[in-house]
Amino acid sequence: MSTPAPAGPRPAIPVARHGGRIARAQAGVRARGLDALLVGVGPDLVYLAGYAAMTLERLTMLVVPAEGPVTLVAPRLEAAPARACPAVATGSAAVATWEETDDPVALVRHLVPEPAGRLAVSDRLWALHVLRLQAALPAAVFEPASLVLRDLRVVKDPDEVALLRLAAHAADRVIHEVAHGRLIGRTEADVAREVRDRLVAEGHDSAEFAIVASGPNSASPHHAASDRVIRAGEPIVLDIGGPLGGYGSDITRTVWVTGGDATCGPDDEYLRLYSVLRAAQAEATHAVRPGVPCERIDLVARELIGAAGHGAHFIHRTGHGIGLEGHEDPYLVAGNGEALEPGMAFSVEPGIYLEGRYGARIEDIVVCGEDGPIVLNEAPRDLLVVTG
Ligand code: ZN
Ligand code: ZN
Ligand code: ZN
Repeated sequence: MSTPAPAGPRPAIPVARHGGRIARAQAGVRARGLDALLVGVGPDLVYLAGYAAMTLERLTMLVVPAEGPVTLVAPRLEAAPARACPAVATGSAAVATWEETDDPVALVRHLVPEPAGRLAVSDRLWALHVLRLQAALPAAVFEPASLVLRDLRVVKDPDEVALLRLAAHAADRVIHEVAHGRLIGRTEADVAREVRDRLVAEGHDSAEFAIVASGPNSASPHHAASDRVIRAGEPIVLDIGGPLGGYGSDITRTVWVTGGDATCGPDDEYLRLYSVLRAAQAEATHAVRPGVPCERIDLVARELIGAAGHGAHFIHRTGHGIGLEGHEDPYLVAGNGEALEPGMAFSVEPGIYLEGRYGARIEDIVVCGEDGPIVLNEAPRDLLVVTG
């Protein structure tokens, strides 16, 4: 179906890209009237510095002042990976290390312009660090770094889209393998383990989630794979994904297992439900183009599902942005009037859930192209009726 698992070095964003990102972030700090951006370990640090450090109680922090040199503060024992990261290796940031007995917050304080009026901290910085920074800089006002970084991260460049596509294709292959393997008689948890193993085998950095929701559990959108044994004559919602080269996959397909018994196929009500869902997912995807408000994509899916009498059974937003985080801006939800822009990447994932009985969801990752949607997933979207 799609291209085979990539061999050789792990795909990555070109090293030289990070200097430009830091420069844009620094310009954003000035444009917003901030004094500095303080970026801890997490997706913002990966985005700016290309540094995927361990999240620890020891402080690692990229300090981006409004003007002047950018510094990566890192514990001494992590000096080697800090110096090797793209932003430092290309000269866009310098490393300042601290010893186990030093106070890293004091080090950060000295790198922040004085007097510090407004500082932006990365949204995922632990409260542990934020509280210490606030104590050390009592006069400063703290704001979220997304004020600056959100606009940068929300539009993906072609290399980011290439990684999202690789991740999507890897997840497509896992769906194909799992859906066409043995399912009946196994627990959801056992199938979820197989999904996780296959995600990694197909090139993912890690298997972040593996929703396997069978029978009545398929009516619960975020069902955690349980010890329930899969039986013939029921649907299974598979919602799986994780990062590949840092960028996430996230795909949902719905399977119906028959056990090879003609009387165990999907009933008419389920087939109707699924065809409404299929149309809603297709139409919502089709509506993607620059300038269209995010909430419009949600509305397209919701109107079709509502017209079929299932409005009350579509209990979540239609989609979420995806990139270095599994859920990020933009959100396709009522009330979000933000216009889609070329390069925005997000899921389109309506679902219909009949509590206590069964449900279905179809999810693709879609990029807003210049003229319309670019759908990254290639796995077929029809209900997969399999022997199981
Ligand atoms: Zn979700
Ligand atoms: Zn999903
Ligand atoms: Zn999703």
